[in-house]
Amino acid sequence: MSTKANFEIKSSVCPLDCPDTCSLSVKTDGENVLEVRGSEANPYTAGVICNKVMRAFPYYVHGANRLTNPLKRVGPRGSGQFDRISWDNALDLVHRGFISAIRKYGTQTVMPLNYSGPHGELMDGSMDRRFFHKLGASLLARGELCGLVRSSAYTSLYGIVPGMNPEQMQHSDLIIMWGNNVTVSNLHLARVIKAARENHGTKLIVIDPKRTRIAEQADLFIQIQPGTDAVLALAMAAELERRGVHNSVFIEKWVDGYTPYMENARTYTSEMVYEICGIDYKIFNQFAEWYSDGKIVSISVGNGLERGHSGGSGIRSAMALQALTGNHGQLGAGVFAKPGYSFPKSTARLQRPDLVPKGTRTINIVDTSAVLLDKSMVPPIKVLFIYNHNPVATHPDQNRMRRALAQEDLFIAGTDVVMTDSMAYCDVILPAASHFEYADIYGSYGHHYLQRADPVISCVGECLPNTEIFRRLAARFGFDDHIFKETDSELMDTAFVDGDPRLDGIRPSDLSLNRALPMTTKDGSDLILCDTVLPGTVSGKIELFSQDLEERFGYGLPRFEPVERKYPLSIISPSSAKRTNSTFGGCPFSDGQEEVEINPLDAEMRGISDGDKLLVHNERGETLLIARITDAVLPGVLYTPKGTWLSTSETGQTVNALLNADIRTDIEDGACCNEAFCEASLVSQNR
Ligand code: SF4
Repeated sequence: MSTKANFEIKSSVCPLDCPDTCSLSVKTDGENVLEVRGSEANPYTAGVICNKVMRAFPYYVHGANRLTNPLKRVGPRGSGQFDRISWDNALDLVHRGFISAIRKYGTQTVMPLNYSGPHGELMDGSMDRRFFHKLGASLLARGELCGLVRSSAYTSLYGIVPGMNPEQMQHSDLIIMWGNNVTVSNLHLARVIKAARENHGTKLIVIDPKRTRIAEQADLFIQIQPGTDAVLALAMAAELERRGVHNSVFIEKWVDGYTPYMENARTYTSEMVYEICGIDYKIFNQFAEWYSDGKIVSISVGNGLERGHSGGSGIRSAMALQALTGNHGQLGAGVFAKPGYSFPKSTARLQRPDLVPKGTRTINIVDTSAVLLDKSMVPPIKVLFIYNHNPVATHPDQNRMRRALAQEDLFIAGTDVVMTDSMAYCDVILPAASHFEYADIYGSYGHHYLQRADPVISCVGECLPNTEIFRRLAARFGFDDHIFKETDSELMDTAFVDGDPRLDGIRPSDLSLNRALPMTTKDGSDLILCDTVLPGTVSGKIELFSQDLEERFGYGLPRFEPVERKYPLSIISPSSAKRTNSTFGGCPFSDGQEEVEINPLDAEMRGISDGDKLLVHNERGETLLIARITDAVLPGVLYTPKGTWLSTSETGQTVNALLNADIRTDIEDGACCNEAFCEASLVSQNR
């Protein structure tokens, strides 16, 4: 900590749902966050952070949307009319709302509705889980909204073991970025790629439906129709076999299920790649040639793929190419994924699933709106507690979600840092502290550094950290076991395995604020799959046929299945450079009408010029977007960033109103946000 004049510079960590988990340097006068910059505490993020955090975070903490006191609804649900109340009154109202429904329907009538607003171990899931587990509330399966499909595809191949960390990619001679828009959603990986290219002449291949910034810099850009990745990857497996570059020595030692996998892959051809993926033969052959020539190949498969119905298959088959070519077992070769498995977490001790009453049901988060509207469900959901989440802005089928939340016989409590489109539906709002106001500890899902942060300012207004909110709720419900009284420091130590050598003898709550701790193997070596890290599958090998996915979903092998479409355009809505999911959506920096990218051919057919206002619509909803005409998107494909709030469109709906909540991924029943089809019509011309 350094002092100058009447402000201080303090260390922190970015808590947002972003793989980079940057170390931060915060200028503060003790009461206010004045400036947020990067710090050197984390060698991977090394002083660089994204523009959105620099520009939006101070406003997010202190701006007009900030919640500072408990509130009680006094107008129609969703109207945003609230009165200020005391904490005691608020906790009483929540207790009364819960208990009156529980008396009638039992404890499973209560459903927590949370995702991963803040990513710290404590605020993301600790005392809150203990509270809902003890209460006997319905359980929520959260990963189906985002992340689980990719995770499950990865573990089906490798088991629960860490993949390569991003820094190792600097040793590759070929890097493949598949569905990962790094300059927006994996910023520091762009620096690794740049260094590899400058220092080693590394080639870069980018596969993406949109010509992103990183695609413009690539040696080879493969522009693919959304959702068709499995076709390309399976056909490439067959093509690499034809070229004699399958590594039989590696396969013999490390791969299980090769024969059935290749029997299936051989049914995918370059003709299918041309017809289904829209990729011409020359590009396909170039991809195969460079893959064949690569001695040390790394691949990053982003979250984009899992947003299509065949997403699980696309991710598995893209990752499988590395096993077929023997690209594991040395620095620079491998799959950049799941470095988060390197942290010695003890999640069960932290969240206490053992408290859950036997027979408690689990609800898929993607089903939330359907479940809330389902009159035949026994017991019905009559109480919702929304936290770390903005379901109105982020779930598919926004209008169904709004109808569900608008029901007057539902009791909704919630907690958030700012007033959001979802908090507007609550009966009671409990104001949450931002991460600048509490201590937490951060693993990462995009690198292998463990970091801790202390508060840099005191709590704004009457806000409280999630842990304290749920401690108070537990006390109000009469849960007086010691586990509901643990301090944040104690929770931090509970979150990791006692004495694990990776913690270097340091108690998690004592971790330096100025030095991120790298995770290695137990003996201090780099994490390298098929060398220092062994596959954690049943066979002990990389499994190309998954018995588990066969039994649970009928997808022992990956395959492509097209989705029926009723409209001529498909719309994809990946990450925004202005928001992280919907966080910062209410800040001036990201407010206002969002743009939609449209190919010149589609624009011409509809009489659309650059800057025109468009109504993008289908049978579920309609939103207004500003046209940007560009060949960065293919004909038939629209592109608009996700996470906007309702006020950005005069229709009061965002792109999420167009998304179908009932189309699901091949494995894990996940949301398919990229399987959205629509039409676009001119509303008014740009003058
Ligand atoms: S959002 Fe991501 S890139 Fe931006 S500061 Fe946070 S962790 Fe870093």
